[in-house]
Amino acid sequence: MIEDRLARLREFLREKGADAILVTREVNLHYFSGFRGDDTALLVSPDEALLVTDSRYTEQAAAQAPLYEVVRQKDGLWKETAAVVKKRGWQRLAFEGDALLYDSYAKLRELLSGVSLGPSVSLAPLRMVKEPEELACMRRAAAIGDAAFDDVVKFMRPGLSENEVAARLETTMRALGSERPAFPTIVASGPRGSLPHGVATEKLIVAGEFVTMDYGAVYQGYHSDMTRTVCVGKAGEKQRAIYDVVLAAQRLGVSLIRPGVSGKAVDAAVRERIKAAGYGENFGHGLGHSLGLEIHEEPRLSSASTCESLEPSMIVTVEPGVYLPGWGGLRIEDTVLVTESGAELLTHSPRDLIEIS
Ligand code: ZN
Ligand code: ZN
Repeated sequence: MIEDRLARLREFLREKGADAILVTREVNLHYFSGFRGDDTALLVSPDEALLVTDSRYTEQAAAQAPLYEVVRQKDGLWKETAAVVKKRGWQRLAFEGDALLYDSYAKLRELLSGVSLGPSVSLAPLRMVKEPEELACMRRAAAIGDAAFDDVVKFMRPGLSENEVAARLETTMRALGSERPAFPTIVASGPRGSLPHGVATEKLIVAGEFVTMDYGAVYQGYHSDMTRTVCVGKAGEKQRAIYDVVLAAQRLGVSLIRPGVSGKAVDAAVRERIKAAGYGENFGHGLGHSLGLEIHEEPRLSSASTCESLEPSMIVTVEPGVYLPGWGGLRIEDTVLVTESGAELLTHSPRDLIEIS
């Protein structure tokens, strides 16, 4: 598994024309080496793989990253990293421009005089296609989210605060094996439903309100992400009409996911559907994103998506919403796996409107 990843990283390095690459983004340290600590750098060349860390981690690194030579630093991570680069005589060192802080870059620049620092790269594309072991973790994380939804529907009633609902979701997920919430749990009730990222507050839920819950679990480092909106009581005509618009758009989005389709095309089709229903101005965010070791990964489903073609074993969320300031709103989100012939939902909670009596 790590062997394959390292091979792909080296292939990438060849394409970029650098002698070696410096990996500093924490999830990428984990992904390309197996090591699970922080404050560490990887240096990978066509024939060497080194892991620079401090005394807290040397024993752990040797056990978790057997394909790497562990280098212990005593006077600072960048000083030792630069020493390794100079000793090897590498002339062109690629680095993660989307991860290395400017201060660190400046320090390395100073320590590596004579070495060409670049090109600046993103390793995100190398994690887009998920391996079977990763998919197993993501299925488990998604199942934990579904179980928490089953539970919270029975728990939900008027008079609870959004925080109590968030706590219930998080407690259930934790008890089922989640390491932590995938992100700050969103519970947005009534008028707060117009806030796409309405993190739970002390607001009490009132009978007749929509409650949008967007949350996820983390299982062995892998995230899940789902959103459901329920009505606490009987839905009114306008609530039902808007719910139907979002649900139809969400189902359309899921039905369009298959290998070969672009991230822009899926987003555009769903956006068009919502616009045709009269709510084009009320759906401002992108349709979806990938996830894995991070909650937001490439590829995206949006007007700015750079993904020309979805591939089997990629994962995307499909999460249209309609938001009316002053009134409220709703979103429905599933996590979807691209298969050889189409798509498979990883989240299975019911999408039809649930009215909690
Ligand atoms: Zn979400
Ligand atoms: Zn999402």
